[in-house]
This record gives sequence, structure tokens and C-alpha cells, in this order.
Amino acid sequence: MAEHESLEFGKADFVLLDNVSLEEFMANLKLRFEKGRIYTYIGEVVVSVNPYRAMNIYGRDTIEQYKGRELYERPPHLFAIADAAYKAMKRRNKDTCIVISGESGAGKTEASKYIMQYIAAITNPSQRAEVERVKNMLLKSNCVLEAFGNAKTNRNDNSSRFGKYMDINFDFKGDPIGGHINNYLLEKSRVIFQQEGERSFHSFYQIVFSILQSSINDSADFKAVTDAMKVIGFTTEEIQTVYKILATILHLGNLKFGSDGDVTLIENSKLVSVLGDLLSTKDENVEKALLYRTVATGRDVIDKQHTHQEASYGRDALAKAIYERLFCWIVGRINDIIEVKNYDARVHGKNTVIGVLDIYGFEIFQNNSFEQFCINYCNEKLQQLFIQLVLKQEQEEYEREGIPWKHIDYFNNQIIVDLVEQQHKGIFAVLDEACMNVGKVTDEMFLQALNGKLAKHAHYTSRKLSPTDKNLEFDRDFRIRHYAGNVAYSVVGFIDKNKDTLFQDFKRLLYNSSNPVLKAMWPEGKLRITEVTKRPLTAATLFKNSMISLVENLASKEPYYVRCIKPNDVKSPLLFEHERCKHQVEYLGLLENVRVRRAGFANRQLYPRFLQRYKMISEFTWPNHDLPSDKEAVKRLLQGCGFEHDVAYGKTKVFIRTPRTIFSLEEQRAEM
Ligand code: ATP
Ligand code: MG
Repeated sequence: MAEHESLEFGKADFVLLDNVSLEEFMANLKLRFEKGRIYTYIGEVVVSVNPYRAMNIYGRDTIEQYKGRELYERPPHLFAIADAAYKAMKRRNKDTCIVISGESGAGKTEASKYIMQYIAAITNPSQRAEVERVKNMLLKSNCVLEAFGNAKTNRNDNSSRFGKYMDINFDFKGDPIGGHINNYLLEKSRVIFQQEGERSFHSFYQIVFSILQSSINDSADFKAVTDAMKVIGFTTEEIQTVYKILATILHLGNLKFGSDGDVTLIENSKLVSVLGDLLSTKDENVEKALLYRTVATGRDVIDKQHTHQEASYGRDALAKAIYERLFCWIVGRINDIIEVKNYDARVHGKNTVIGVLDIYGFEIFQNNSFEQFCINYCNEKLQQLFIQLVLKQEQEEYEREGIPWKHIDYFNNQIIVDLVEQQHKGIFAVLDEACMNVGKVTDEMFLQALNGKLAKHAHYTSRKLSPTDKNLEFDRDFRIRHYAGNVAYSVVGFIDKNKDTLFQDFKRLLYNSSNPVLKAMWPEGKLRITEVTKRPLTAATLFKNSMISLVENLASKEPYYVRCIKPNDVKSPLLFEHERCKHQVEYLGLLENVRVRRAGFANRQLYPRFLQRYKMISEFTWPNHDLPSDKEAVKRLLQGCGFEHDVAYGKTKVFIRTPRTIFSLEEQRAEM
């Protein structure tokens, strides 16, 4: 419970509401937003409302105020959570993670950057050069990843179109010594298609405008990104290759096919030699890869000409694939450079980790496709983790410890997670099965298969299954009842996006480039046509596997949560759209979170541990106690301090309701 804040700003912790109702929650959230208090706690969870204006609360002086303090000593802030995660890691040698969630434009990426800046600012007091170097790289990597992975969308001018999880590794002194980035599903379709009002990835405008010198921001960003890449350690040759790849994609966008009778041709054939130059390969190889594919029929290998349509499909697939590969390669290069080196745990003790997750929030667009389906599945997984960690675990612990406890109802979304990911029966499995079929499989056939398998599922429906449902507009849609709301997905493109085919000929073309950087990005191009046997994993399976391992990884760490809320759709600093915010509060499960927290206890410790830490403050326990058990000794100690009303005694642990009690114990301990 944060001190030092007057009530005119509302309650700093939702746990302190007089009545836990949605109305009171919303009133407090709104009051605080209007008073410029964008952060509020639910216990140790930070709720953040995007202010859409520069706030003077991230400077050096604020950092100093939060450094080393306990959560409840200062007004709610991201820095306090970052400090709590850092302290937990340092004091208890625990790996921690900070999970930032919320919808597009809610402020996740900004929050993740402030958290990283805070950690960078409070570490390395002795200014070791190597640690400073690492910190600089970690911060600089953001700028590069945003250039290549973010884009202007209708919801956010700087929307992350990939998921990012970053580990920061610390040595035994608590100083950063390296890091590692995992990236998830880049929205590569953006390379060839953007909705009205949206843009492709920033990187393309930066390179174009750096040539045209027109848009001030893009060209300045170009310089910043190039500088950042240099600082991180990309070679000149690597940076040049990166820009050549961007140029390749732009030229591919202009490439048109035509036909002459049965023959498919490239209309603007001058582009072929431009592409040949950029890709450091012969023009005729480029032309051949664009117009033909090599197929093995029995023992023969023949060149089969593309139809007009196949050629266009191939060109677009190539543009998407090289951009995605470029992005993954950039992440890989950053990882090579920031990864922890020369750390000997036997000498230096365990190296611990703080992970920061900034991943795409729940999305409901006018037209929702495979990408939104994956993104929303990801959010179901994270919500399930939140439920398990925060809600379920908490209740289970009280039950286990025999502490009286009122059960709190919350919606458990496991059923939706299963609907998507279950083996054989889930939507991903049905999709993969459709993609395995030989012959022409259409998106409509996939939809039929779904309808057949999932007709009875409470969270699935489609026009075929609910013909009278007015909210289902199109025959091609299926609808999922997500924890965060209903979303209709159009099946159009699901099969293609899941198969994610890139003709082998392109892989060989790129592998055979005389540019070693480009060649290294495409190792699988080494295989000859007769050697390619394995079917690559589908996009859905790859994504599902990456989500499962992400959740396992997070679950192995001590989690801290930032829940971001977007106050309005017009990026206004003044507008708190009530319904819009209420919906987010509901689907983030914030009210349940408050209820569990209120019914609960802020702190709990095993009896022996508690004694170890506080026994010096009581004559009954110092230096040793003669009571029948540690539990009795703890009771005696707390009675002596007058905290009897604020605690409960479980089987193995003492439970303390308010943080203030802990704070006071800590003070007494310090005075000894
Ligand atoms: P997406 O899911 O689309 O990536 P996001 O949740 O990462 O969205 P951000 O890019 O962090 O959203 O925030 C969107 C915009 O909101 C920022 O570009 C900035 O203008 C504003 N904003 C967010 N947080 C803050 C803040 N703490 N202070 C000032 N402005 C902010
Ligand atoms: Mg973002």
C-alpha cells in the first residue's frame, strides 16, 4: 500500500477500495488518470493507463527515489516493480520475469523500455567498463528491433509486429553481464500488404527517405538505426547487406508478370538485373527462380514453368520470407554479441536472470486472419499463466496451509487454450491435418472440418452452426469466444499462411549468392532438389511450440505483472472512454485480482525463515527460543510487537496481511 500520496489522487492500490465493485474500480482508475496518476497497484501488480503525453516521471531524480525501496514506500510506478524484481533476484538468487500485457497501443513497449532503463540506471555502481558496454548494447538493441519489427498501424504509430522476450543476465554482484532475445511470429504479410492508413515496417521508409531526404523523422531514424547497428557490432558488410535486402524487397514489389500464350514472362525485365546486383547473383538465376520451379519426378529432375498466378505467389512469398529471415538473423546477431561470455559459475556464483516480456496484445480487427488467431491464442496462454500463478496458486496455498478462505470465482480460460492447441482435436491440429492432404485443399474445406469437429464446443461457432446469429456476417468466418471477447476469423488464407511455402528454388538462389552474409542466412539452400524430403513444420505448429516453451520459461521464474490499459482510440491525453476501459478491466480479470488479493495476505514466510530474519527483535526469541515449536515462537514474537490482528498462522507458514507490518518489522530489525 503506497504511502506518501494524498487521497485526492484516489487510492494508490485497488485493494484499498471501500467496496470491490466494477463501478468503484472504474471511478478510481478514471480519477487517477485525470489527476495524472497513471499507475495504480493491485498488490504487486501495476495497472498502467497510457497517458498519451510526455510525463515528467522517468528522470534521474525519480529513479533515485525508487532505488532499493520497498514497493509500498513510494507512489505506484513501473520503477517500483522493476526494483522489486531486481531485489528478489539479488536477495534470494531467484530468476524473475516481468510480464507486460495489454492491447495494441496500451503502452507495453514504452513500459518495457522504462523498465530496462531503470535497471540499467541502478546497476554497476562501480562503473565497470564491460558492464557499461553490455548495458549500452541491451538498450541499443531496442532501437534496431523497433526499426525492423514495428510499423504504423491504425491503432498505434509504433506498433510492435512481433513478440519479444528479453532475458537480462546478472552476475553475483547484480550487474548485467549479457542478455538474450527471443522473438515470436513477425507479421511478415505486412511486407506485401497493408490495410488502408497503415504502413509497412519502419525500416523501408527509413531507407527510402534517407535517399529522398524528405521525411525528417524517417531519415533521422535511418542514421540512428545505422549507428546503433554499428555500436552493437554489425560489420559494414553486414549493414550493407541489410539495406540491399530491403531494396530487394522494394523492387520485388514492383515486379510484374505477364503472359505470352502459355509462357509466363517478367514484364519489367530491367528489374531482373537490379535484383541480380542486389543479391550478388547472376541475372539469369534470378529470372529462372522467378519463372520456374525444379521438380523431381521419379529419377528425373525437370524445370516446370510457373503459371502467372504461381509466379506472383512465389514473388510475394519470397519478399515475405527474406524479410522474416532478415529479422531473425538480426536478432541472432544481436544475441551473438550480447550473450554472456566467460562466466564461470563455480567462481562467480549463479548467474541470475530478469526476463521482460513485451508481446502483442489481444487484437480484434475488422478483418481477422491467421495472424490475429495466433496472437489471440498467445494471449489466452498468458492469461492462463496469470490465472495459474496469481489466482489459482494463491487459493491453493491457503487451502493447503489450512487458512480460512472464501473461494473466489473467476473464469478459467483453459477450455479456450485447449480448443486451439489440443492434439488431434484442436483448431491448430485440424488446420495441420488439412494442410497435409495431397491435392488441392481449400480454406473452405478447412472450415468444414472445423465445423465437423467442433460443432458442440461452447466457445466455437460459425455461420453454418448458428445460421440465425446476426453477428456472424460471412460464410467464410468462424468465431471464437475468447476470454477477452468474441472474435470472428476469416478462414481466407489460413491454409497458405500455415503451409508458408517458399519454393526451394529461391532458397538455392539465395544460398548460391556470392554475398557471404546473405548466403549464411539461407543454409537450407544447400540441399539439392532430390535431397529435400522432410516437410517443414507448419507456421501454426512452430508458433504453438514457441508459446508452450515461452510459458514454461515464464512459469519457472518469479513473475511480476504490468497490465496496460488504453484509455481511448484517438491517442488523446484527456479522454477516458469509460466503456472502452471497462472492457479492458473486465477481460484482464483485474477485479478478480483485487478480490483474491484482498482476501489474501501480502506476505508469507516459512516459520524458520521468519525467525531467522526477525528473531533479534524479541526477547522471547533472541538468541534462541525455548518454545515447543518455531510456530509458537513466531506467535510469541508477533504478539509482543502487537501485530496479532494482522496475521494468520498456517501449517508451515505465517501469513501477514498488510505490507505495513512487514515494513515495521524491517525497521525494528534495522534498529537492532
Ligand atoms: P503494440 O501492441 O501495438 O505494440 P504497445 O502496447 O506496445 O502497442 P506502445 O507502443 O508502448 O504500445 O505505446 C503507444 C504509444 O503511446 C507510444 O508511442 C506513446 O506515444 C504513447 N505512450 C505509451 N506509454 C507512454 C508513457 N508511459 N508516457 C507517454 N506516452 C506513452
Ligand atoms: Mg509494442
